[in-house]
Amino acid sequence: MSDPIANIINGAAVPASSGRTLPVWNPATGEQQAAVGLSTAEDVAAAVAAAKAALPGWAATPPARRARLMMRFMALLEDNREELARILGAEHGKVREDALGEIQRGIENVEFACSATELLKGTYSRDVGPAIDIFTQRAPVGVCAGITPFNFPAMVPMWMYPIAIACGNTFVLKPSERDPSASLFVHALFREAGFPPGVLNVVQGDKVAVDALLTHPDVAAVSFVGSTAIARYIYATGAAHGKRVQALGGAKNHLVVMPDADLDQTVDALLGAGYGSAGERCMAVAVAVPVGEETADRLVAALKPRVEGLRIGPATDPDAEMGPLITREHRDRVAAYIDAGVAQGADLVVDGRGFRLQGYENGFFLGGTLFDRVTPEMSIYTDEIFGPVLSTVRVPTYEAAVDLIHGHAYGNGVAVFTRDGDTARDFADRIEIGMVGVNVPIPVPVAYHSFGGWKASLFGSHAMYGPEGVQFFTRLKTVTQRWPSGIKEGANLSFPSMDGS
Ligand code: NAD
Repeated sequence: MSDPIANIINGAAVPASSGRTLPVWNPATGEQQAAVGLSTAEDVAAAVAAAKAALPGWAATPPARRARLMMRFMALLEDNREELARILGAEHGKVREDALGEIQRGIENVEFACSATELLKGTYSRDVGPAIDIFTQRAPVGVCAGITPFNFPAMVPMWMYPIAIACGNTFVLKPSERDPSASLFVHALFREAGFPPGVLNVVQGDKVAVDALLTHPDVAAVSFVGSTAIARYIYATGAAHGKRVQALGGAKNHLVVMPDADLDQTVDALLGAGYGSAGERCMAVAVAVPVGEETADRLVAALKPRVEGLRIGPATDPDAEMGPLITREHRDRVAAYIDAGVAQGADLVVDGRGFRLQGYENGFFLGGTLFDRVTPEMSIYTDEIFGPVLSTVRVPTYEAAVDLIHGHAYGNGVAVFTRDGDTARDFADRIEIGMVGVNVPIPVPVAYHSFGGWKASLFGSHAMYGPEGVQFFTRLKTVTQRWPSGIKEGANLSFPSMDGS
């Protein structure tokens, strides 16, 4: 096997120095295809030092020049999207169309960052006092760190560093150790676009590297996306070390099906949102909530053959709709949830546990699974499973659907399918969830809005990317200025106000 996948520090590939590695699997075959080196605190310190050294020059680079480099980066990403999709497929297992969708949504964040000149404009008030004007500017915060999950190895990092860098910061990215190669490929394009070395650095690793970033005095801000337990830890530890932190966590997203919903559209939506990317999405729909027994019966009857008919295969199969899970342990964990759902009394309508693919018997595949008559105390309802398992919770009324959703710990995404405008408007207003879809199953905001859940799905005061990303990656400075020619007031010791000064 070739050398372990390395870090990129100040533009150069540098192996992690610990000697510790983790396997990188081919999830379709179940074989190890590479190893990733795990960084020490010293390796992380070297990356932070490179970012710190690059900071003064980069922060002083005019936003228009930063934006032009970002435009070149965007063009290179577009030209190389097929190769990037192949890399995602090889390590994550997602199928080509899904990988291309992720890449497109990532590129849109780079596109947003190309407007740095607009995004960094301040405000100006003239004559706030006699010959006194005020203006604001948004200054970079410094060296920023990003810690990202396995499930979007290209897009989620692009929620962070393009905006951070367009705002004049430098960056250290710690990608998931389970699919580390995408970040190296993207970094090569970033350098080819003309960005100076040290502006974006990549450290591979696990908790050791994360802790080193969270406690390093020269890291000013930490962006995290991952599971809730780790998000909570990242938020508390980063904040205790004086950093600004945004930490996005896990999810359990519901889709409410009103009796008047278009059934075909709803079934298509549930299939895509429940089983796309094998359910390994933080915006996956994990719970269908049909209102009324008749709606539930029609929905489950329509879903069953569609779930049974899912085309499951490796990323290299152009006809596959859904790939394998990320690791054998994760596949087994999801299967254990299915066991628990059966033991706890849910109706197993489609069982994915027996799925085998000829020629890929050791791959981490699981078939699409559908449960009916799930109740709120079951672990398949309370926990984020992160696999191709859709649970149906039947409720008698719209109000019961709202109460059910409000009783859940997570608050990332939610959807309602209905033809009724009153219901849709009431739902969007009242539901305590950060991202709401009306007849839209995966309401991931476009790059010029911002992404963020509520409750246990986000720790911190800023959502990610878009306008909130600009706020997070900049600090406000307000300058009050007077040019005193012709105005002689003498000393005034009272607190300055419009009347007094
Ligand atoms: P994870 O929490 O296991 O890992 C995320 C990152 O944290 C990785 O870089 C990992 O190396 C690091 N990490 C893991 N354990 C750590 C520890 N003990 N201390 C410090 N750092 C640690 O998440 P994952 O399995 O890679 O990704 C799936 C999770 O991410 C799901 O819960 C999913 O909902 C969530 N997610 C959320 C969003 C969102 O926008 N809210 C988006 C994508 C994924």
